Amino acid sequence: MTQLPLADVLPISASVNDAGRLAINGLDVRDIVEEFGSPLYLFDESTIREMCREFVGNFRRHYPKTDIEYSTKAMSNPAILKIIEQEGLHIDVVTGGELAFALAANFPAEKINFHGNNKVRSELREAVEAGIGRITIDSFHEIELLNEVAGELGTTQDVNLRVSPSIDPHTHRLTSTGVLDSKFGFSIETGDAEKAVAAALAQPNLDVQGLHFHLGSPLFELEPYEEAIEYVCAFAARMKWVHHLELNEFSPGGGMAIGYLSSKLPPTIAEYAQTISESLVSACTKYGLDQPRMIIEPGRSIVGRAGVAVYSVGGIKRIPGVRTYVSVDGGMGDNIRPALYEAEYEVMSVDDPLGEPTQKVTIAGKFCESGDLLAKDVELPDVKTDDLLALPASGAYCVPMASNYNLQTRPAIVLVTEQSEARLIRRRETYADLLATAIFE
Ligand SMILES: *Cc1c(COP(=O)(O)O)cnc(C)c1O
Repeated sequence: MTQLPLADVLPISASVNDAGRLAINGLDVRDIVEEFGSPLYLFDESTIREMCREFVGNFRRHYPKTDIEYSTKAMSNPAILKIIEQEGLHIDVVTGGELAFALAANFPAEKINFHGNNKVRSELREAVEAGIGRITIDSFHEIELLNEVAGELGTTQDVNLRVSPSIDPHTHRLTSTGVLDSKFGFSIETGDAEKAVAAALAQPNLDVQGLHFHLGSPLFELEPYEEAIEYVCAFAARMKWVHHLELNEFSPGGGMAIGYLSSKLPPTIAEYAQTISESLVSACTKYGLDQPRMIIEPGRSIVGRAGVAVYSVGGIKRIPGVRTYVSVDGGMGDNIRPALYEAEYEVMSVDDPLGEPTQKVTIAGKFCESGDLLAKDVELPDVKTDDLLALPASGAYCVPMASNYNLQTRPAIVLVTEQSEARLIRRRETYADLLATAIFE
């Protein structure tokens, strides 16, 4: 088989087929698009399973008491949740909607954790009623509110507390969450975290299991995890001494990066697993803590590489000496990450993945914003109207952030199964969907 360019950022089953086109698990991507339409999001089942196994295998090898908890906000779909469940993962949700979705997909409630900085009363009630496994408390308001809700329902809720370790993870400022100036978590530095431990332990209807932090995403460096684990374990030891906090559980969050550009690849999952596990073991030894159950919360790194967005080329605008815009039939409505975070993507010609680049172009979306550009200055072979372009590494935070801006219908999603079937797992929206919630007099 011919060596596939961009193999590091494409699904593991991607290849070039005999027709010279991009294939996923042996299925010709153009054939799939001809069947299901464009734009289209493809997910490769074998990549999702492989990522789950890499996380479970590598972490348990270094730290047997690990559970992997998939963050469903990265991509939620019943078929994908089924795969995640079969691989033995837990999940987390951040809204009542995500919880309802997970429960509708029959995900076991005891394996669900509820995150979020401002859960409202009705959401907390729904979660406790469903018998959710964990709720991760993020504010003083929530300590009281959840204690009250659990009391009304005559139960005790297992909870963790989200602390903020004031550590800069060196990622985009809009995706840093563990710094002092953040809306998330109880700051250890200001003393809020200690007050939260004392307050939560005093509530009759809350059972505090341990501590959680999440630094941000995507983190291409390992050091921020090391520093934060050391700092939070030192805090936990002090809380054990002062407030008798038993650290049964410890979660250093998610945030593991994926390769978006083949020139900027992240550490391997094995490397994240080794650093995080060894940091926790050594901090527990240093501070005299029993080794807690560890919960790792990857979202992006489970589904990101599995997803490929495919668009059709429409108009091409050449501005001599300035730039060539290649317009496609999707854009910020299905992938807002370039506009929101200056995220960068590789672009591949589905019809000619091995073609020598002949030009530098900018891939423009079809939405009415000048900032609706999917990729700037990418090198491509000649492309013409109706050619298909693939954006690899589109599996995380694209579909879930999609909107109906400009009243554009959102794309269909197809799962390429391990048996090489193209299975529709979300149908393309129709105009009727757009009209469904409108009220016409
Ligand atoms: C979003 C989030 C995650 C997952 O982040 P990824 O970058 O997708 O791995 C994990 N934990 C918490 C609390 C989050 O908010």
